[in-house]
Amino acid sequence: MVIDYSTYLGYKCPSCNDFSTKRLTVFDLPGKKHLKIQCKCGESHIEIHPKGTQYIIKVPCFICSHVHEFSISKKKLWTSNIFAYNCAASNMDICAFGSEKLLKKWQNEFFAILNYIMENDFDY
Ligand SMILES: [Zn+2]
Ligand SMILES: [Zn+2]
Repeated sequence: MVIDYSTYLGYKCPSCNDFSTKRLTVFDLPGKKHLKIQCKCGESHIEIHPKGTQYIIKVPCFICSHVHEFSISKKKLWTSNIFAYNCAASNMDICAFGSEKLLKKWQNEFFAILNYIMENDFDY
């Protein structure tokens, strides 16, 4: 079996509130250098740091405005169909990666949830 070592990474930018999506391949993450993926607005970015058999992913959070750190095995990053991370303070997804198709689906569902929250103006 040939494994396609590429994935799509998406997150919601805290500055422009848009989704930033980027295709990654294993060649974008060589050796010990870390990778910065900037939003098209240039105001925020994700960082991916290789660490042993894992990657440390630092994601700016559009909800609580902290930078959240997640770790994931290298294998999982390249082989997951879809995988989302959420903000522990709010339980909302802030970042996901996976196939282009499923990431798109995740974004659409995410938009639907956000619209629902805004339209209904929940008081907690
Ligand atoms: Zn942005
Ligand atoms: Zn957060």
